[in-house]
This record gives sequence, structure tokens and C-alpha cells, in this order.
Amino acid sequence: MPPQRGRHFLQIPGPTNVPDRILRVLNAPTIDHRGPEFNHLASGVLDGLKGIFRTSGPVVIFPASGTGAWEAALVNTLTPGDKVLMFETGQFAILWRDLAERLGLDVDFVPGDWRTGADPETVEERLNEDREHKIKAVCVVHNETSTGVASRIKEIGEAIGRSGHPALFMVDTISSLASIDYRQDEWGVDVTVAGSQKGLMLPPGLAFNGIGEKALKAAKSARLARSYWDWEAMLTMNADGWFPYTPATNLLYGLREAIAMLDEEGLDKVFARHARLGEATRRAVTTWGLEILCRNQAEYSASLTAVMVPEGCDADALRRVILDAFNMSLGNGLGKLKGRVFRIGHLGDFNDLMLAGTLSGVEMGLALAGVPHSKGGVAAALDYLAGTLKAGEVVEMAGRARA
Ligand SMILES: *Cc1c(COP(=O)(O)O)cnc(C)c1O
Repeated sequence: MPPQRGRHFLQIPGPTNVPDRILRVLNAPTIDHRGPEFNHLASGVLDGLKGIFRTSGPVVIFPASGTGAWEAALVNTLTPGDKVLMFETGQFAILWRDLAERLGLDVDFVPGDWRTGADPETVEERLNEDREHKIKAVCVVHNETSTGVASRIKEIGEAIGRSGHPALFMVDTISSLASIDYRQDEWGVDVTVAGSQKGLMLPPGLAFNGIGEKALKAAKSARLARSYWDWEAMLTMNADGWFPYTPATNLLYGLREAIAMLDEEGLDKVFARHARLGEATRRAVTTWGLEILCRNQAEYSASLTAVMVPEGCDADALRRVILDAFNMSLGNGLGKLKGRVFRIGHLGDFNDLMLAGTLSGVEMGLALAGVPHSKGGVAAALDYLAGTLKAGEVVEMAGRARA
């Protein structure tokens, strides 16, 4: 393979492009994690995360991939045999379900079509039917990264509230945190599951749990075995700015920088930026005459778009052509979607011209790979991007993202 010049376009929906500012701070000497400089670093990031999670409660950080945060959420709050309600939104929901079953939980898995999100009405019905309060937790993936469908967490939280059911509400925000509006406290979420390598613009390696009061209380009587993931040891040490075991020190340098970048931009602007880039992407896709996997406009993901290829075409062959010809990685179809979709990540450290480059690579790739499509997708996206740049409209979009 000849060497590729210029930047690789990492347009999978996580890990995302790590900004230079973060790469530079990662490259500092590792320090003593029992010394004063570390203490200052840890206190700062533990405090700064609360604003990103929109919670007044603690957020804990594990050296792990996002999967660790899934496990930590369950083992700290539940007891073997507990019933949990989960929703088949796509491949990530299936993986979380499998993990829960391996831990010895009794999962009621509500089937789904992989094209719509978890339904708030179904949540309410299931909880209302459960008069004996056998269900101990409702677990939902906010942004289903395998399908580009974002479940309506606020509405699901309201449905749980209306039911008066005591189940805990746990939400996987691994590919939505710092990309799509999310409010742990306001929306009644008890445990937030997150990871470093998507909206937070960091390399993989950090996993997070945002922990509400009700979850802290549940942890006191939960009997699933836990050691590495134990919140109690972590929270006790974190209270003074320390960790119970060696933290991922250099990633915490990066986290400090990521929090600073998100604060400088403002979370509402971050959400509006993602929403606008998502809309531009969808305009390109529909102009190409290809189908967006997400069926419900109210559930379009602002962090990625999953695109179906026409019958008889292989999405992986298309991705291969695009990688070889243009040095760009797109997301593959996961689970039962293998070969049927490709996914365009438009989250993290990402702007208009990066999207223009990304969509150009896709449009040229469609032609090279012989995938039937109409031209003009990139032009449609550019028209939308230019047309929405008027200052007043950008402000209005920020308002919509807040609403
Ligand atoms: C990426 C992702 C995960 C898995 O995270 P890992 O870091 O690969 O363990 C889980 N859930 C969602 C929604 C994701 O996007």
C-alpha cells in the first residue's frame, strides 16, 4: 500500500477524531497519582463532569471502555435474579442485554425493529402492569450507535414518573453525551453510562457512571458481586480527589482539556452544531436517493446517520472502496445490519468542511463502487450549511436544541 498523505478521515461514530489540543496535553509526563498535582487534576475533572452530565451528583471515572460502565451500573445497584426492562433498539442494546444476563439478571427484552427508539408508552404500560414492582431497573440506550436512532429519554423519564413505579432508570449515553441534549437530573435518570471516545473527543479508555441519589441508596442493599467496579471505594477516595487504584492519568489530562473545550463552546451550541451537521447529512442521503435507517424523524440521531444500500449492494464493499481511494473510515453495519448499512459519524470535533469532505468521499465512493444513486447530495448539504449560517438562525437553532 502506498503511504497516504493528509489526514485520515475517521468518520466512524466513535472513536472520533481527537482534536490537536487534546493530543498535545496527552503527551505530558505521567505524574504521581498520590501527589498534590494529581489531586488538583482529579478534583477539577470530577467537578467539571457534573456540568456535562447535568447532574449535581457524583460522576465516577473507571479506566475502561464503555462496556465497563454498563457493567458498573448494573453490579452496583442490582441483586442476582432481579428483573430489568430493556429495549431492543439495536446491536448495543443487545450487547448490554447479554452482559446483564451473564451477570444473572432476569432481562425482559422488549423486541424492536432497529429503526425506531424505545417507546415511552410501552415503558409506562410495562411499569403499570408490574403491580408487584418486580422490575428493578429500566435500561435504555439513548443514542443507538448501530442504527442512528435516538430514543426520547426525557419522555421515557416522564413516563416512568407518571407510573409511580420505583424502578431505577439507567441510560447509556456513550454516543450521545456532549453531542445530543441530555440532562441526568432534570430527566429523572438514576445512572448515566458514558465513555470517553465519542462526544467527549478523547481516545478510548475512560468509562463513566453518573450516579443519582436513588441509585446510591440502591447500592447499599444490592448484592451482585463487585470489586473493581465498586462505587463505594471509588466515591470514598474521589471525595478527597483520589482514586482507589491507578487511574488513567494521561487520559485525565485529555479529559480536563475536553471539558474546557466544551465549556468554551457551551453545551447548547455543541448540541446545535451536531443537529445542524446531522440535518445536512440527511439532506445528502435523501438526495442520493438512499434510505435513512431511522424511520422516525423525531428520533434522528445528531451524532451519526445509518444509510441503507440498495438491495444487491454490499455496504462493506463500498466502505472498502472509500477507505482505499480516499483514506476515510465509515462505520460498518453491526449485527443483523452487516453489509446492509454504512454509518456516517458526524460527532465530536467536527465542522462544516469536515462534513463536506466526508460527504464528498461518500458520493465519489458510491460512483466508484457502482452503487445506484443520484448525484447532488454534497451540493444539497452545502446549500443547507451555507443557508443556515445566518447569525440569527444559528442562535435560533441553539434555542431549539435547548427546548
Ligand atoms: C460505543 C458504544 C458502546 C460500547 O462502548 P465500548 O467503549 O466499545 O465498550 C456501548 N453503547 C453505545 C451506545 C456505544 O455507542
